[in-house]
Amino acid sequence: MSNSRKTYSANEQLLLYTQVEGICPICTKPLYYEKNGQIHKKYEIAHIYPLNPTPKEVELLKNEKRLSIDVNSLDNVIPLCPDCHEKFDKPRTIEEYRMLYKIKESLIQKSKIMNTYSYFNIEDEIRVVLQKLNLESGELAKLEYTALKVEQKSDNTLPLLLKKQIINDVTEYFKFIQSIFVEIDKECPEKFNTLAMQIKGFYYKCRQTTQSQEDIYHSIVAWIHNKTGKYSLRACEIIVSFFIQDCEVFS
Ligand SMILES: [Zn+2]
Repeated sequence: MSNSRKTYSANEQLLLYTQVEGICPICTKPLYYEKNGQIHKKYEIAHIYPLNPTPKEVELLKNEKRLSIDVNSLDNVIPLCPDCHEKFDKPRTIEEYRMLYKIKESLIQKSKIMNTYSYFNIEDEIRVVLQKLNLESGELAKLEYTALKVEQKSDNTLPLLLKKQIINDVTEYFKFIQSIFVEIDKECPEKFNTLAMQIKGFYYKCRQTTQSQEDIYHSIVAWIHNKTGKYSLRACEIIVSFFIQDCEVFS
């Protein structure tokens, strides 16, 4: 018996389109075009595991993980530009299946975490730290290399390149950020502890979705960035490095 193709509602399509941020996740072409002042869609909803696989495809994918047991589930479909859809389906290859599986898996993970943003507050004072970091131009007191905790708290899900950046950020900015928090706490006692608990809470939320330290790092950076009006992504990275050293993240 063959599976019938599901017609996705306008809202389901909107969700899928938003998930890929309006671009083909394979070739990055826009999934719409403008003609005579009107916007037209230029995408097709592709099944990652095929809707009705041929016996050859069943054999090819028999040991592969699936994103859902229901082939028509929103977790098993993704908008692609017509060219990439055609190439993805014909001929089907195991490499492309794995590639699209990974892309979709991380998109699902990202939307799950984004959907919880509104439940996790962050004190406004974090903006003071971001602004001071962004405007900082002088020579800063560095943290001694021997005081670093990143090394013992990281595992093999944290790529070396990112680990080096975190180590650099901690060495360079830890003492500076600490001094800003001391000042903030003088005016509003326990502000730092409140903030640290909020970061820790969001860290644990991320851990429910993924164990990858790289993904968790980027998720916390994106959360703070979104919560602070997208003021400075770089400053958010430095803040997360601070909280790694301070043990709220990767604890
Ligand atoms: Zn494409």
